[in-house]
Amino acid sequence: MNDCLFCKIIAGEIPSKKVYEDELCYAFYDIDPQAPTHFLVIPKEHIVSCGEVTAENAAVVGHCFQVISKVTKELGLQDFRVVSNCGERAGQSVFHLHFHVLGGRDMTWPPG
Ligand code: AMP
Ligand code: ZN
Repeated sequence: MNDCLFCKIIAGEIPSKKVYEDELCYAFYDIDPQAPTHFLVIPKEHIVSCGEVTAENAAVVGHCFQVISKVTKELGLQDFRVVSNCGERAGQSVFHLHFHVLGGRDMTWPPG
């Protein structure tokens, strides 16, 4: 039994506001946006985090970035930030690999 929140979103068991979908990945708006535009891109395959990327599953990660490039263009986002929190101490709360895409405001560095 898969208890993963994002696997349930992919399966349509939990509603989400879809931005993009294909056979490999799904993108949807974050429920608690941290910028005027904030969406998440996730592989449909359950990968826990960037720390679990291997030679076997790395292609889908590259695909996620292709999707980020395509969707940000479609949304007219020229400047944006891509973030993936890996592990609890880094701020990860959902243990299914996801890339936050944030834009529409000035960003600061370093992040907290
Ligand atoms: P992280 O804390 O980096 O693991 O990111 C998880 C993100 O998922 C957070 O930004 C949450 O706001 C977001 N989130 C949690 N539940 C949902 C949901 N049902 N729909 C959309 N985004 C969600
Ligand atoms: Zn999952």
